[in-house]
Amino acid sequence: MQTRLTEQTLASPSGAQAESILRRCVHCGFCNATCPTYQLSGNELDGPRGRIYLIKQMLEGASTTELTRQHLDRCLTCRSCETTCPSGVQYSHLLEIGREHIDRVTTRARGERVLRRLLRYVLPETKRVRWALRVAPYVRGLMPKALAAALPEAPSRASNTQWPAARHTRRMLALTGCVQPATQPQIDAAAARLLDRRGISLLRVHGGGCCGALSHHLNAAGEARAQMVRNIDAWWPDVEQGVEAIVSTSSACSVMLKDYGRLLGYDVEYGEKAKRISALVADASAVLSSLPRFEATQVAPAKRRISFHAPCSLQHGLRGHKEVERLLHEHNYELTAVRDPHLCCGAAGTYSIQQPELSRQLRANKLAALQAGAPTVIATANIGCLLHMQQTASVPVKHWLELLDEAER
Ligand code: SF4
Ligand code: SF4
Repeated sequence: MQTRLTEQTLASPSGAQAESILRRCVHCGFCNATCPTYQLSGNELDGPRGRIYLIKQMLEGASTTELTRQHLDRCLTCRSCETTCPSGVQYSHLLEIGREHIDRVTTRARGERVLRRLLRYVLPETKRVRWALRVAPYVRGLMPKALAAALPEAPSRASNTQWPAARHTRRMLALTGCVQPATQPQIDAAAARLLDRRGISLLRVHGGGCCGALSHHLNAAGEARAQMVRNIDAWWPDVEQGVEAIVSTSSACSVMLKDYGRLLGYDVEYGEKAKRISALVADASAVLSSLPRFEATQVAPAKRRISFHAPCSLQHGLRGHKEVERLLHEHNYELTAVRDPHLCCGAAGTYSIQQPELSRQLRANKLAALQAGAPTVIATANIGCLLHMQQTASVPVKHWLELLDEAER
């Protein structure tokens, strides 16, 4: 694609990056065929090719309107288009640059600004999420509808949260996280037990927290940096002592952690550390699938019929959903066929709160596809998808690590 970016834009690192991404796009439109928002609206500007064009025009100096922002806001950042693109266009990096630009040159309505600030204040801090879940039943009526609908129930005394003692010489670190420990603390405990049975201790370190993805996707670069730096500082003593890996059990967080090296690459103080962290990060699916196969005699013999939703972050971000499906098969789960497995469920970070209508339509389509094969459980690999689908699914929605752990007990 030919570009005429302004000299001022080209002089910045992000402008130069945008130009090299734009030049790879040959405008073929293959990506539109797998874009969830294009499929729903049929509008070219709600598909990747149209959005790429909008970003190009903005960076070339065209006036930027409220409508331009709406089309970019409607993008789920699911990256299905990247998987489809034959030219290797890094759409998500271009979108990042486009969103940052548009938030600089336009002003959002007051209500939207307040909501985005509230989400950034509450969600990245586990204590605040717990508090919000406790008070939600009393103030639900006063909240914006989309926010009230997206809030999960506060977990009743969570079971299966026991972590094994750190008894092995092989050690890995767990991402502390934010929403997941407040709502589904049993997931990380299941990962710790699975690794313990395989001779590895999964350690929790003090001082870490949210991976920074929420703030990053809401264009709060300073907050995202502070969250990334907090994790790096918390992990660094163990990294220097030779810890084997940093494990994330939520695929969207894994994608973000793997991106620390790129996002902090220009940081004088943390750039090199961030690259080392990114190299050490592994999604739980990559860790477990790289270990020797678990002895079949120790696996529960009864088959259970399940359907698996591979989150976009797992299939398009990490390109790793086949590993999870193989592990589930090995643990005697029978996976149903699922129509259009590449499509997003509509969770997409805070998308379900900010774009509730599109999000609800995507969830209804996804659940219809997942439930068509009459599963007893729906499995997934990301906390956002899990909580989002749980709201209206007719069968329980669980993390695949819980299912593996159940099969081995
Ligand atoms: S598939 Fe790739 S090259 Fe074709 S329009 Fe989409 S982004 Fe551009
Ligand atoms: S990231 Fe997803 S929603 Fe956004 S343009 Fe690509 S396929 Fe469409």
